[in-house]
Amino acid sequence: MPKTMVDYKWDVGTYFTKKEELLEAIKCYALENGRNIKFVKNDKRRVRLRCIGGKGKCPWTAYCGYMKAIKIWQLQKIVDNHTCSREFNLRVLSSKWLSKKLEKIVRENPRVKGTEIREKISRKWNVGISRCMAYRAKAIAAKNVEGSFKEQYKKIYDYAYELLARNPGSTVKVNVEENEREPIFKRFYACLKAYRDNFISCRPIIGLDGAFLKGKYRGELLTTIELLIEDLGGPAVCASYTSISDRQKGLLPAIQELLPGVDQRFCVRHLYWSRSRFTTKAQSDTLVNNMSEAFNNVLLHTKTKPVISMLEDIRLVSREII
Ligand SMILES: [Zn+2]
Repeated sequence: MPKTMVDYKWDVGTYFTKKEELLEAIKCYALENGRNIKFVKNDKRRVRLRCIGGKGKCPWTAYCGYMKAIKIWQLQKIVDNHTCSREFNLRVLSSKWLSKKLEKIVRENPRVKGTEIREKISRKWNVGISRCMAYRAKAIAAKNVEGSFKEQYKKIYDYAYELLARNPGSTVKVNVEENEREPIFKRFYACLKAYRDNFISCRPIIGLDGAFLKGKYRGELLTTIELLIEDLGGPAVCASYTSISDRQKGLLPAIQELLPGVDQRFCVRHLYWSRSRFTTKAQSDTLVNNMSEAFNNVLLHTKTKPVISMLEDIRLVSREII
């Protein structure tokens, strides 16, 4: 389906491999253009559509048939001409269908209000929905979002095994805390072999982001650094690396504790640059902790996603960087 259905021109012969694709295309078309498209017929063999805008005088009609032999739906007839004008209340919208469009909004803000949803929809597509539909659509979206979060936590071990199976020689560790009712997820550590091998031939700089060293995650990040040191060949090897970070409290002594004598640099964005502080050991221009910040940018957009979707985003972005 094209990215936007605004002013989409339908062509006879266009086909859809699934009926859902066809229905989705029609609903998006109706929504994005404010056309009151009605399903006159909708069964296993035919989908007949009509625009009921312009007080029922609009000539737009379409017919799609199922071609059994090749199992596709095809647009066979079309009068692609509207005399109606944009309408605000569309019959084609259903709360279930709308809920799919709302999942991102609900994921980012689970407490979004019905009125905000109505405003967003009105702003984005210039169509109106009732209070009742906004409420129902939000409820369905919230249930789906919560469901996908829970489902993905349940699959975290499967994901870890899959990652290991596809990347032999990697380290993948899942940590959960036993709890009376159900286990609580604590940590996911992954050091993929390809990344590790590549890293060893790169400039030996490790970027750390102190933002994650605050509060209750502090212990988790330190454990992660310990695991990473082990993966990279132990403290003796890592002590020859340079670590670059912003100047977060607690990061310095923590790193010194784990890697005594390691060369530490600060991101110049957070520091008045004083050249004397730099040794000649790491001949690198990477003074700004750009890599970590590029990473954070991705995290910012992915942190509201369910855990496995988030891990996959991180994996893909790491592959691009390395
Ligand atoms: Zn029309």
